[in-house]
Amino acid sequence: MTDVVLDGVGKVYPGGQHAVRDVRLRINDGELFVLLGPSGCGKSTILRMIAGLEETTSGELWLNGGVANDLSPRERNVAMVFQDGALYPHRTVAGNMMFPLEVAGDDRAQARERVAELSRALGLSPMADRLPATLSGGQRQRAAIGRALIREPSLFLMDEPLSSLDAGLRTELRLEIAGLVRSTGTTTVYVTHDQVEAMTMADRIAVLRDGVLEDVGTPEQIYRDPATVFVAAFLSTPPINLLQATAWAVQDQGVVLDFGAQRLTVPWNDPRSPALISHHGGPVIVGVRPDALTPVADVREGRTLVGRVRVLEFHGHDWLAYAEAGIPTIDPNTVGRPVPVPAEPGPASGGRLRGLLRRTSRARQPVPEEHEGHHRRSNLIFRSGTDRPARGEEILLDVDLDRLLLFAADGRRITSVRR
Ligand code: ADP
Repeated sequence: MTDVVLDGVGKVYPGGQHAVRDVRLRINDGELFVLLGPSGCGKSTILRMIAGLEETTSGELWLNGGVANDLSPRERNVAMVFQDGALYPHRTVAGNMMFPLEVAGDDRAQARERVAELSRALGLSPMADRLPATLSGGQRQRAAIGRALIREPSLFLMDEPLSSLDAGLRTELRLEIAGLVRSTGTTTVYVTHDQVEAMTMADRIAVLRDGVLEDVGTPEQIYRDPATVFVAAFLSTPPINLLQATAWAVQDQGVVLDFGAQRLTVPWNDPRSPALISHHGGPVIVGVRPDALTPVADVREGRTLVGRVRVLEFHGHDWLAYAEAGIPTIDPNTVGRPVPVPAEPGPASGGRLRGLLRRTSRARQPVPEEHEGHHRRSNLIFRSGTDRPARGEEILLDVDLDRLLLFAADGRRITSVRR
């Protein structure tokens, strides 16, 4: 039985870097738990505090029902795998896996059997006698996982173990790792910045930003009902539409989400309307995932948006269209930050879409026309199925109102759609 509890855990590095702030989490026995967030958000620091490689500055860390802040790494019985896997170069694959058992003084025959068994599970049997230098990146990483798991640790910690591998291998290995740790039942904490990895592998995910825990839940929960705008945007490919609106409670209609040039209406019988009323006359952020928009032939009052297609991307199974809709959009990175956002890099490093979002997010006033000088307002992304719309075509988009994600101006979820 291994569960991990972080009770108000914080970390300030010497020099004053506040890496982790008041994190409260419970990781259950046998769970594959993923810490997810952009680089620098504090994931590795949390993992290293759990391992005992880094001291906590505040709060309590509990392992197996006892406070573990002062336990040495050895006493915690954790095993850790890092990005580069670091094997002993002069030992074979089997020799590397054997090493922890030798150090522990285990019976040799039993140790060999255990190494053979785990090698089979990891698909390493054919290369058991090879040195690390003769292996591929994926094989080396498998061997490192084998060496970490061989002593049956009570807690398995993995820090971006796949990030140095190419895309195909990552997909293959993430399935294998998830299968393996589930079959052993070892409680596992897995750090990644890759949302697909997190969504596909995790039993539950914790999303971090600037050292703060923003959301925790099953992949489905945090995708369907994210706690903040940041989480909604981080777990979204293709990118979610984040639209700026003013909420107006209108008798006989519902709560109108007024985007200036366009509007949607959340009807009174919608369970979120009561919470929305408290934002009457104020700003709200409306999240619409591209697949909640469907091209249609006719306008339905209160649930149709219109956009002019500017850019099309072919994604194999469908087209992704970028349309101008004259709706102000929001940059999720600027919402809800407790401190001013540092200067952003130039457009070249941010990619086209981030560049667009950044440009459009500056102008908060609705603009009736498609153009604002050079600033195109290409701000509604939707999937068009197999029908390819024409560039310049005006498209009516039906909005699945049940799937609207509604946030206050500070980025927090207004109401719970599910849960
Ligand atoms: P992540 O794993 O999410 O990329 P880290 O936990 O490595 O983030 O880092 C969180 C923050 O703490 C970053 O701002 C990082 O620069 C800082 N940091 C990490 N390690 C140290 C250290 N040893 N000394 C000072 N600051 C550190």
